[in-house]
Amino acid sequence: MDYRLIIIGGGASGLAAAVRAAAGGIDGTAILEKLPRTGKKILATGNGRCNLSHSGITAADYYGSFDPAPVLDHFGDAADFFASMGLYTRTDEAGRMYPYSMTASAVLDALHMQLGGAQERCGVAVTGIRRISGGYAVSSDAGELTARNVIFAAGGHAAPKHGTDGSAWNILREMGIPVIPPRPILCPVKSDEKRLRPLKGLRVRCRVTLYDGDAAGYTEDGEVQFTETALSGICLFDLAGHIDTRRLHAYQIRLDLLPADTAGETLSRLYTMQGTRYAASCEEMLTGLLQRPLARLVLKQAGIRADAPCAGLDARQLQQLEAVLHDLRFPVTGIADFTQAQATAGGVRGDVLNANLSVRQYPGFYVTGEAVDVQSICGGYHLHWCWASGCMAADHIAGGVL
Ligand SMILES: Cc1cc2nc3c(=O)[nH]c(=O)nc-3n(C[C@H](O)[C@H](O)[C@H](O)COP(=O)(O)OP(=O)(O)OC[C@H]3O[C@@H](n4cnc5c(N)ncnc54)[C@H](O)[C@@H]3O)c2cc1C
Repeated sequence: MDYRLIIIGGGASGLAAAVRAAAGGIDGTAILEKLPRTGKKILATGNGRCNLSHSGITAADYYGSFDPAPVLDHFGDAADFFASMGLYTRTDEAGRMYPYSMTASAVLDALHMQLGGAQERCGVAVTGIRRISGGYAVSSDAGELTARNVIFAAGGHAAPKHGTDGSAWNILREMGIPVIPPRPILCPVKSDEKRLRPLKGLRVRCRVTLYDGDAAGYTEDGEVQFTETALSGICLFDLAGHIDTRRLHAYQIRLDLLPADTAGETLSRLYTMQGTRYAASCEEMLTGLLQRPLARLVLKQAGIRADAPCAGLDARQLQQLEAVLHDLRFPVTGIADFTQAQATAGGVRGDVLNANLSVRQYPGFYVTGEAVDVQSICGGYHLHWCWASGCMAADHIAGGVL
């Protein structure tokens, strides 16, 4: 055999696996990475700061067909993992964990410094894997390489400019490993362009709720960023994963623009603004609460002319305005594609994997990171899963876990 371990993909989970393999005394590891360097996506995470984990992560933070609990339990705290590499972390008030320097390159440096004797073979794309006696033969554009163990850490379909165009999943399919079809998550949600165009560039703090018909579903408070074609921002990224794109017409996004108002408080604000701005138009009156383009849209949904004098609004119209301020509606017309998504839903089906992430039908062959059907929301959960799964596979190979 050329190697004891071949890791396919030098991203978050592949590098974590390589670090842990080195720590576990595995000699003869190669990382095969198709891009000219490893860890390119890590540098782009968290807006260049790398939100590498979250405080208090449990299995309940994830969804998908694989139960991540044993992997998360085995891994423990990401802060300890990085501290063991000499990298310190800090956690913000929302629980998001970052490297202490707040720079993603520090995370990549830490991983690179702990690779031990692992070889990074960059510019090598893997094209196929087949079982041979005592291990696997990995075909690549550097020829055929053999190893006793293989970790498939080639990521998902999201952000193809970072090397993950999804083509690697064909290798799994050709091996007969069931893969749940990929779909983009952590991405903007598209809506009616006519409604959105005037709002382009606005940022609004509010409560966002996904409705499936009349049923309220996923909800989150946060900042909505309006683009010409979509609603964006972390809360929309989190919500996108809950949309079944085969039934788009069933969904609506509803914004509560004043979620902190107590009962009657919004109506009382409207009466006050009407009294103090009695010579203003309805649009001008609402600028006491909202940015002007949003004020216009609220008035439109309430069926009130923006240029009408606000002094003429009667009690029924003010109540109508109050209702729309708490329930501004946008139809869902789609979700953004993989070029704008930060993660992939789908991947290797949970029931074909052992708890240690080896594929049941292929002893010594492991799948980690985004290639496994495990997903979550924004906030460091995806990277945490990647470190944890990479470590689990490497520890199992090193003999540290059953
Ligand atoms: C812009 C952006 C920001 C993000 N921010 C965060 C964040 O702050 N916190 C968080 O938790 N998550 C974040 N994510 C998600 C997170 O980065 C990913 O879930 C994670 O990097 C996936 O790690 P992975 O190891 O599974 O795969 P990747 O990191 O995608 O690595 C896979 C590697 O495999 C290589 N590869 C693919 N095919 C082959 C092949 N055939 N042969 C050889 N090599 C191959 C690729 O080039 C790539 O380097 C972000 C994602 C993006 C795009």
